Amino acid sequence: MGETLFGRLALLGMGLIGSSIARAARQQGLVGEIVAHAKSERTRARVVELGIADRVEADAGEAVLGADCVILCAPVGAYAELAAAIAPSLRAGAILSDVGSTKQSVIRDVGPLVPEGVHFVPAHPLAGTEHSGPDAGFAALFEGRWCLLTPPPGTDEASVARMEEFWRRLGSMVSIMEPGHHDRTLAIVSHLPHLLAFTICGTADDLEGETRQEVLQFAATGFRDFTRIAASDPVMWRDVFLNNREALLEMLARFTEDAQAMARAVRWGDAAYIEDKINRGRKIRRSLIELKQA
Ligand code: NAP
Repeated sequence: MGETLFGRLALLGMGLIGSSIARAARQQGLVGEIVAHAKSERTRARVVELGIADRVEADAGEAVLGADCVILCAPVGAYAELAAAIAPSLRAGAILSDVGSTKQSVIRDVGPLVPEGVHFVPAHPLAGTEHSGPDAGFAALFEGRWCLLTPPPGTDEASVARMEEFWRRLGSMVSIMEPGHHDRTLAIVSHLPHLLAFTICGTADDLEGETRQEVLQFAATGFRDFTRIAASDPVMWRDVFLNNREALLEMLARFTEDAQAMARAVRWGDAAYIEDKINRGRKIRRSLIELKQA
């Protein structure tokens, strides 16, 4: 266990990500005190029961008072309202960060509300599961996973360095990325796959009676892997889609073209084309295993 990095850490949102940060930060001795806030009384009560924060506040402004680091861990659609609520209570010199899956929208929504003297360091840990809520979190979630920081130009370098250290000590590998590049990259590696999973489950659900029953009964043949992704939190994903609209639509258009090309190959019996596509998929899977990200 190393030195304490922040005297007081405030986490706004205590679902999968917020509660995992709380557990990991405490386990690593990274912070003196953890103050938590969540929207519902139910979640706040559960955080108290789980004992994963030192204090739980019903008011977001109260939660950030005197905090050295504040991390927004709610769905990205709630950020503007949350940032406006906490702005007057942020301590000068504090770091304001987040974990949102989209980064240009966060900089657009939160950036203008950050008071003078508060250092805004947006971040996105590329770690998650399909589960949500405070019970879903666990301390090892970030181990061996990337965390991308997207500081706007002119961000205080010492604050960026502290957030890098924070995520490294939670077990992550850290990289700095331009926010627009982040959003395009995540559109293809995460947002589009989720969109496809939600869509394919919808398509299966729309099938007529007998076939739909068989989809469930024989799901092992590929469909099951889509249903795991499709079990993710609807509010979180609704907000991701609406806040990375351009990049997601661009990747979806590219995908649709490629899917049409595959359909044409199937229709015309173009075996070589089909085999080539499958081989490219296998190659990507092998690369992921080699990079230990599978
Ligand atoms: P989650 O498990 O659904 O938890 C969301 C938390 O935010 C809950 O504690 C919820 O409180 C709280 N919340 C919602 N609206 C709020 C508001 N207006 N004010 C205060 N708190 C509010 O979600 P999650 O998976 O942890 O995701 C949180 C963030 O991490 C999102 O921005 C997401 O894009 C990002 N992220 C997610 C993943 C992933 O795989 N899940 C990975 C990386 C980053 P209640 O329970 O009281 O409603």
